[in-house]
Amino acid sequence: MNVVHVFLLICVHCVVIGTGKLIHSPLLKEPFEYEDENYDIIEGDILVKKGLGRNAMTDPAKHWPDRTIPYEINGTYNEDEMGWLMKGINSYNERTCIRIIPKTEEHENWIVIGNDKPGCFAYLGFRNQGPQVVNLGHGCLWNEATPVHELLHACGIDHEHNRADRDEYVKILWENIQEDQKHNFKKVDPNLYSDYGIEYNYDSVMHYWDTAFSKDPSLKSFETLKPYDGPFGDAIGWADSDIEKLHRMYECTSRFG
Ligand SMILES: [Zn+2]
Repeated sequence: MNVVHVFLLICVHCVVIGTGKLIHSPLLKEPFEYEDENYDIIEGDILVKKGLGRNAMTDPAKHWPDRTIPYEINGTYNEDEMGWLMKGINSYNERTCIRIIPKTEEHENWIVIGNDKPGCFAYLGFRNQGPQVVNLGHGCLWNEATPVHELLHACGIDHEHNRADRDEYVKILWENIQEDQKHNFKKVDPNLYSDYGIEYNYDSVMHYWDTAFSKDPSLKSFETLKPYDGPFGDAIGWADSDIEKLHRMYECTSRFG
């Protein structure tokens, strides 16, 4: 159930191996190598252009037009993986006002879901540059939560534990976090990112588990400041608050728009 684990592919733990960087991800059992001269992976699973910060989720230009995300699958998945992928995609169509539909020739922008690279990662928000990658590599598709999580990045939503107000809800145990992974817990810029009035939710599918990027699996990277009795990283899919945030962001009043 450690769906959230897959999300953390960060570059924090980027150790140079061969020509690529070794990305440690809480979502995957093994770190994976990532190499691209123009792009980096931050927070474990967010693809960004080198030299730029994260995208602004409040910027309407980062929202998909018509609340519609055309997709193309350009990967080799087995039956189980394809089942989880389609379950994740269908959950948007069934529970949210975002429509994820097969790409046709008329679509100028779309996501390309593939596994030609290791790791689970996606760009944050709409790029308006034609095809944009949502990589769901080996080990990413064994539940609904991981495709939901990565597709929420594509919608423009960042991690819950990096919200601007997160210090009211979690205490980051910096001393327990690997030195080169600390950047994974950098808070988002409140001028660019909004919580849309949705209260912080430990159960969000966008929340990492509490040993993510710690020096040792027995050490926690953060602890809660409010009562919470659920296990972190066990998100199995959508929290209602994830859907509500997505709806406010895309100005929907229901899953019908
Ligand atoms: Zn993520």
